[in-house]
Amino acid sequence: MKIFKFGGASVKSAESFRNLAHIVKTKGGERQLLLVVSAMGKTTNALEALLGQAYHQQHFDADFQQLKHYHLQILYELIPQQEHPATQRLEQLFELLYTQLSGITQNDNFDKVYDQTVSFGELFSSSILHYFLTEQDVYNTLVDSRKYIQTDTNWREAKVDWAWSERLIRRDVPALLQEGLVVTQGFLGGTNNGLTTTLGREGSDFSAAIFAYCLDAGSMYIWKDVDGLLNADPKHFPDTVRYPEISYQETVEMAYYGASVIHPKTIKPLANKRIPLYVKSFINPEGEGSRICDCRFEVIAPAYIIKEKQCLLSFGVKDFTFISEKNLGTIFNALSELRIKINLMQNSAISFSICTDYNEDRLHRLIQTLQDQFVIHYNTDLKLYTVKNYDAASISRIIEGKQILLEQRTRTTFQIVSR
Ligand code: ASP
Ligand code: MG
Repeated sequence: MKIFKFGGASVKSAESFRNLAHIVKTKGGERQLLLVVSAMGKTTNALEALLGQAYHQQHFDADFQQLKHYHLQILYELIPQQEHPATQRLEQLFELLYTQLSGITQNDNFDKVYDQTVSFGELFSSSILHYFLTEQDVYNTLVDSRKYIQTDTNWREAKVDWAWSERLIRRDVPALLQEGLVVTQGFLGGTNNGLTTTLGREGSDFSAAIFAYCLDAGSMYIWKDVDGLLNADPKHFPDTVRYPEISYQETVEMAYYGASVIHPKTIKPLANKRIPLYVKSFINPEGEGSRICDCRFEVIAPAYIIKEKQCLLSFGVKDFTFISEKNLGTIFNALSELRIKINLMQNSAISFSICTDYNEDRLHRLIQTLQDQFVIHYNTDLKLYTVKNYDAASISRIIEGKQILLEQRTRTTFQIVSR
């Protein structure tokens, strides 16, 4: 069996849905195919904005109507019937969302209501896809991934209960795949008391990999608006190259350093079962794409990765003693408590520096926690550049014209933090 994952860009308009259906029909087959779909276009961002308004007790009606109109309009272009069950279902989901937003107060746990709210994006898109494919004579069952991907209550970054999820998926999904296609939502999970969780932004790739793992899929495909796995983001580099074949290991590392092509958690479950992952273009489905698998290459084109909105923090000791393991322990504890991830770190005699994603609120809480013990300096609006498998030419290319605040290199990886 196969898994196809379609991201927001592949379901952003009626035309994209038609293109998706064409790919499913020509590349997927009539059964043994599970489709994982993200929210349409920029819906997740729109839902985050609505949630922000509701949480701060501001009016959200106008933006709510706009989001509703966007979805209903596309549905109507796909299925031009007023009374269709798809329309009723979508209206009902929007009513539930409205009720959810209306009930939010500033006393709520923000991350918890985030998951209950922002999850609607995938409920909308998967419903539309289910009904549209049915109209296209593609037999499929809509499965609620919240009932299968079971997680803890680590809201917005929920941890998967693998054993339990696997049991539930294996219990029900194979029989449905015998009959036809299965359509389900990316990004979402559920708790044992029926609450919704999410797996982290851009987490739909990970959802697809969870299903692939639990179902022992033969392959997984991610359909994107690029030709495959590229060595750099074409938005920043005009001369990208595609890796026709690349190892799980290389891909995991690229994702870790911030390549936005695949969600970092996606690879492990696939690698554990040696399930090949294909990254293909939904614009050019005949193109070769990339195959990520258990392979090894001696020479591979340098990969350029840029992480934006970085913050460089340095912790100095106050009394001219050296930075000790005890000091580091204190800093790491605070980072872990506040769930701040380190993207790069370096220590010197009297100070310790880390580069992290900039999050104003967390940064201030970190400073509050540690300011009695350390002198803390920070810079924001920085970029972290990583070159994997660097050579002299790629290094000069990356440092050219930059004001470098920190530099680090290992045998395979070169990194700078700069403005
Ligand atoms: N819709 C979610 C997001 O935009 C999940 C995903 O697209 O993978 O983050
Ligand atoms: Mg998305």
